[in-house]
Amino acid sequence: MNDDAAALYDQLQHRAAALAAAGPRCRFAPSPSGPLHLGNARSSLLAWLHARLLGATLVMRMEDLDRPRVKPGSAEQVLHDLRRLGLDWDEGPDIGGPLGDYTQSRRDPLYQVALDRLDARGLVFPCYCSRKDIENATRAPHGHTLTYPGTCKELDAAGRKRAQARRPERRPGYRLKVSDQVVAIEDAVLGSLQQHLRDEVGAFVVRRADGLFAYQLAVTVDDALMGITDILRGEDLFVSTPRQVYLWSLLDYPAPRFAHVPLMCEPSGKKMSKRDGSESIAAFFENGGSAPQLVGVLAASVGLVPAGSVLSADELLQELTLARFFSALRQAGQMSHLA
Ligand code: GLU
Ligand code: ZN
Repeated sequence: MNDDAAALYDQLQHRAAALAAAGPRCRFAPSPSGPLHLGNARSSLLAWLHARLLGATLVMRMEDLDRPRVKPGSAEQVLHDLRRLGLDWDEGPDIGGPLGDYTQSRRDPLYQVALDRLDARGLVFPCYCSRKDIENATRAPHGHTLTYPGTCKELDAAGRKRAQARRPERRPGYRLKVSDQVVAIEDAVLGSLQQHLRDEVGAFVVRRADGLFAYQLAVTVDDALMGITDILRGEDLFVSTPRQVYLWSLLDYPAPRFAHVPLMCEPSGKKMSKRDGSESIAAFFENGGSAPQLVGVLAASVGLVPAGSVLSADELLQELTLARFFSALRQAGQMSHLA
């Protein structure tokens, strides 16, 4: 283990715990994989309102973990777009802070420390399976989340050698063993979720076969080392939450509170995505739209203000209380599930 990285990890953990004890801490976690679309803008606006209503310190973390998906210039563009919307943050890659670095691609040594420590407890094993192997072993329909069948979990040294020899060109990924227990979470918007990790997910990837650290590990280490107490994010990540809560417990850190908000849909009802060119914030401004117009549209789409409202992010904040904010989100969540 790299001693410097381990010392930094411990120092950050210590500092994060002290800051978290002093008051709530929230975060933005955008991925710089292209221009922010209106759905991303709405989730960011909601994260900002949540943090400000809580009186929290708000951290900006740039999630450029998945190097192949990062678009050059996109990180700067994301920060610029969010500022234009009228949002701000208290710590981040552009302004610094006590728990940096705030950019994931610069945090590999910290993820490695966490992985080494889990490994030292016998919780991590190399996995030689391809996606196809897992599909074949589980006969799950294509495209569904696959429960890892445990193929490589019990391999001894000789078994690992044989598995590697079968595909010499491919490096193993690393998976985390999960316990035989139900993880229960209580979400401020979506309510309760119970997941049996072993039966519903299986041992999950913490380091990918291409050598990159997996989202589940990175995001948990980051949230823990940044002292995050309250997370608001898109509901596509709801099903990941039990894995992260399990990791939080292994990292010996109290899990944060969660709120998962409905994703914004196209008028057609389809989920917005960066790939299909759903309208970007940048395009909205270029076409002459103003920040108060955009804030009004986004806030009205989750029932925070009446349709047709035009108001700045700060004015919107003045109109809300935490109770009103959550009751609107819960209602919007129910509507999006009926749709
Ligand atoms: N970076 C992730 C995304 O943009 C969000 C991760 C999280 O909030 O946990 O989808
Ligand atoms: Zn395997």
